[in-house]
Amino acid sequence: MPSIYIDGAWVEAASGETREITCPADGSHVITVSEGAEADAQKAIAAARRTFDDGAWSATPAKERGAILDKLADLLERDKDKVARVESQDTGKRFVESQYDMDDIIGVFRHFAALADKEAGRVVDTGMPNVASRVVTEPVGVCSLITPWNYPLLQTAWKIAPAIAAGNTFVLKPAELTPQSSMWLMDALAEAGLPAGVANLVTGPGATVGSEMTTNEDVDLVSFTGGLVTGRAIMAATAPTVKKIALELGGKNPNVLFADADIPAAIDNALTAVFLDSGQVCSAGTRLVVEESIHDEVVTELVRRAELIRLGGPFDDNAETGPLISEAHLGKVDTYVKEAIEDGAKLLTGGKRGEGELAKGSYYLPTILDGCDSSMRCVHDESFGPVLTVETFSGDDAKAAEDAAVAIANDTIYGLAGAVWTENAGRAERMARRLRHGTVWINDYHPYVPQAEWGGMKQSGIGRELGEHGLGEYLETKHIWHNIDPAPADWFSGRES
Ligand code: NAD
Repeated sequence: MPSIYIDGAWVEAASGETREITCPADGSHVITVSEGAEADAQKAIAAARRTFDDGAWSATPAKERGAILDKLADLLERDKDKVARVESQDTGKRFVESQYDMDDIIGVFRHFAALADKEAGRVVDTGMPNVASRVVTEPVGVCSLITPWNYPLLQTAWKIAPAIAAGNTFVLKPAELTPQSSMWLMDALAEAGLPAGVANLVTGPGATVGSEMTTNEDVDLVSFTGGLVTGRAIMAATAPTVKKIALELGGKNPNVLFADADIPAAIDNALTAVFLDSGQVCSAGTRLVVEESIHDEVVTELVRRAELIRLGGPFDDNAETGPLISEAHLGKVDTYVKEAIEDGAKLLTGGKRGEGELAKGSYYLPTILDGCDSSMRCVHDESFGPVLTVETFSGDDAKAAEDAAVAIANDTIYGLAGAVWTENAGRAERMARRLRHGTVWINDYHPYVPQAEWGGMKQSGIGRELGEHGLGEYLETKHIWHNIDPAPADWFSGRES
């Protein structure tokens, strides 16, 4: 079916090409969608440009733009199971997890709905009675929004909601493998009252559609979530036209476990940290950084529990986690694991694809590698699979132990998220301040709320999504200086009388 949406109408790709979407849980056919390319992206960008330049949309009162997002949240509440179902078909993710994602997304829409009319700018006191000076915010313009496959509609919501709240127009490109929830979104936005031309969707590859969206002169901002290598390429692609960019990239997230922690809670959460959604989470706690004195106890229990994790398809009520997104991705994860073993890591469990019934899908067993260090690719680069690497630290006293833990936890080019487990409040605060990661959990892992900013330090990205800052990414700042009692400047000579 046509999956390209331009100026309020569904169209096929200009080339007529299509792509088959299959479910990674069993390889079954899900849907045939349009395979867009540069020409389709150009049409979508032109529609977004025309709609923005027309001025009516950005002049719509912010409260009304917020109301559209509120209505969108209502529609997702209505369609929650339907959208969760297609999200699970595309990703292979458990249906119940997709349902949780929908709840999160509803919260994101409501957050930006409430924020839409709160950004009022400010008056500046120049100290000059003849001057009215104010700083106002305006939409950036035409936005290219490019998203990954792991949380398709969630990552999209983090972008489209502030883009709409701020009065921008946009072209959305979902990941090639997960188009369906974006297709629902276009119809829902129209039903919620969004004018035609504000939201446009082009399904297709990064190399063609994505490339046009990052180089086209009519695009003002690119917001991208995905891998580091792609992020670097996008940054370079946007440079010649100096676009605003926001990048949400990967992470090699340390989960630091001190001996003075609540150990049962820490172990249980360490499993969720890394094996949730089979590790296909940008903030997954893939690096366990554990104090030497509790290493054996912790690792033994982690292995025991990892071996009990039940894998299965999206609609298998018995399953606790699902498949990887594709066979190609499974191959990458396996290569990282094999390499780590060759480099001296000890495989404690997993390290291979699922067998029996699981062989039909792209399942990889929860894997734990001990004796790791940051020279190993599995530690310093994302495998983006269910792979936990264990690094150990120790110190002669409390301070030395903290220093050692910080050194390992920060020994990464990434800086997205991390956690520290300790019952010592002072240590918890010290560690939270010293970790160079955009989110730090203390005695917890994974939760987030749309009211708080999300994003990465170092090579995990540029900018922030969610919170108030997440709206700011989609706004330009303008200073308006109004001299209400104009007079000659008298700078240059020669003025008559
Ligand atoms: P990816 O980088 O391969 O692709 C992401 C998107 O970029 C896709 O839509 C793809 O088609 C597009 N793309 C690819 N090449 C492009 C190009 N040259 N120009 C423009 N667009 C291009 O990432 P992925 O494999 O889909 O997703 C997994 C990655 O996303 C992981 O690295 C993960 O850490 C990251 N991620 C980060 C966050 C975060 O919040 N920081 C959230 C989710 C995922």
